[in-house]
Amino acid sequence: MWEFETECQEVIQRTPNIKSFRFPIRGKNVRYRPGQFFFFTIKIRGEEALHHFSFSSSPTEEGYIEFTKRITASDFSQALNVLRPGDWARLRGPEGSFTLPARLRPLALLSGGIGITPLRSMLRYIADKDLPFEVVLLYSNNSVEDIAFRHELDSIAGGHPGVRVEYVISGPTVPGDWPGKRGFITKDLVAEVIPDYMTRLFYISGPPRMVIALEEQLSALGVPSAQLKRDSFTGYD
Ligand SMILES: Cc1cc2nc3c(=O)[nH]c(=O)nc-3n(C[C@H](O)[C@H](O)[C@H](O)COP(=O)(O)OP(=O)(O)OC[C@H]3O[C@@H](n4cnc5c(N)ncnc54)[C@H](O)[C@@H]3O)c2cc1C
Repeated sequence: MWEFETECQEVIQRTPNIKSFRFPIRGKNVRYRPGQFFFFTIKIRGEEALHHFSFSSSPTEEGYIEFTKRITASDFSQALNVLRPGDWARLRGPEGSFTLPARLRPLALLSGGIGITPLRSMLRYIADKDLPFEVVLLYSNNSVEDIAFRHELDSIAGGHPGVRVEYVISGPTVPGDWPGKRGFITKDLVAEVIPDYMTRLFYISGPPRMVIALEEQLSALGVPSAQLKRDSFTGYD
């Protein structure tokens, strides 16, 4: 377990309402595994406020920790929205067992919206370490503009034959030439995109309602719950 005070190093706008926040580590012995989360504290009107965030960075990206947040109307979100390089923060972690398996096996990552954060960390790690995992990411968003990390995910898939990324757009505005899938992630879509689904270890990540809905779809396909790992972003439903 580690804990340290630091200051914001960089803020990156990922989509119209998603931002990444980076914090320097500066040589401290700060370890974590892709898929884990940490406790993050800032001051709002002088009072400390704490939230949990998954690492969206990978341990292979040295020198900083990054998390990525959907900005809502909440006090905490609005304080983050005006966070600037140099502003104080405290980080404590790591926590969580939503992590890659110890032995190689085919994976299926299912995610919607902001749920991509721990999966981005895993895919960056797999790519940087050149790990021979067979991975399919099925990533759903309301619109094409809402896809966070799209360019990077495409580039990871392009450079690693074992990694495939499939986007799904669930909202009404889909460009006519959209090459990806449309609608919601249903059992039929899983079976179509991941025909060998029974052999894969599933990771589901997102707001609780989405995680439950996807669990139900997988259960209807006969995927045993022992073959599922879940990361539920409480606070969004
Ligand atoms: C393991 C884990 C990993 C997460 N990773 C991410 C991430 O990578 N990116 C991201 O955007 N969000 C993540 N979240 C959710 C995040 O911690 C916030 O809860 C969420 O962003 C909502 O914050 P808000 O500013 O929109 O609203 P807020 O008003 O701050 O929260 C909405 C409501 O939820 C309650 N709440 C806030 N946090 C929690 C919590 N952790 N548990 C239960 N109730 C809570 C608040 O009291 C409030 O009533 C994660 C949550 C967990 C538990």
